Amino acid sequence: MKLHFLYLGRIECRKDALIQCKDKDEMIKSPISAILIEHPKLGNVLYDTGNSPYYGSEYSAETLETYPIPEFISISDALGRIGFSLSDIDQIILSHLHFDHAGGLRYFAKTEAIRHVLVSEAELKNAYFQVMTGNAGAYVKSAFDFEGVCYQTIDGTCELAEDLELFVQHSHTPGLIGMRVRTEQGTIIVTGDTVYTRESYEKELPPGGKINKTTEEFFNNLKGIKEMEKKYQAEIVFGHDYEQILSLSNF
Ligand SMILES: [Zn+2]
Repeated sequence: MKLHFLYLGRIECRKDALIQCKDKDEMIKSPISAILIEHPKLGNVLYDTGNSPYYGSEYSAETLETYPIPEFISISDALGRIGFSLSDIDQIILSHLHFDHAGGLRYFAKTEAIRHVLVSEAELKNAYFQVMTGNAGAYVKSAFDFEGVCYQTIDGTCELAEDLELFVQHSHTPGLIGMRVRTEQGTIIVTGDTVYTRESYEKELPPGGKINKTTEEFFNNLKGIKEMEKKYQAEIVFGHDYEQILSLSNF
């Protein structure tokens, strides 16, 4: 199995919108990313898809103001750089349906992979509930609901292969898929947006901003991740850590 970490540009916003901090003017670079897993049995598995190609017109003014996107790299271009085309992807997993993770699904509209996109059941229900009740938050309905998309849902944990396990977390959103991957170099745990950065993980800083419910959910989930880290001697990959993704992606 081979992992490729893909850098898909960045959001640049007030740090407080992501992670609780004292200085309200401090800014943070929040990278957008995806992971391609070349798996001997499962084929090419893609975890997350980045922003929508239509972000400028599709995202709300409030979203673009709070989370400006000064750099956009499409999932199509990022895959192209490492020699893959969109139709090479066999399985798409969406950690959750927020715009910066599900937005790039559009690129796959004409591919086979669009017919069985993996997401958690709780996430799919929550996304529709929010957009249909006028409280969309970071969900953009047209980005995850368009002709041809068909979702396959999971709940709890799901072993896609003996070395690739998905687990549903209940933090950041009600059902966010994390991933445990066993490689020859060791185990990698991908948290997705339940933990944004290494700083948040190490100093146990809860999320800020309006999207996140800063509750016990964050701390409970963090505890679970730290236990897994110990058990598997794992390396942790965070949801939006700029330095980490730059080093992992060799961008
Ligand atoms: Zn999110």
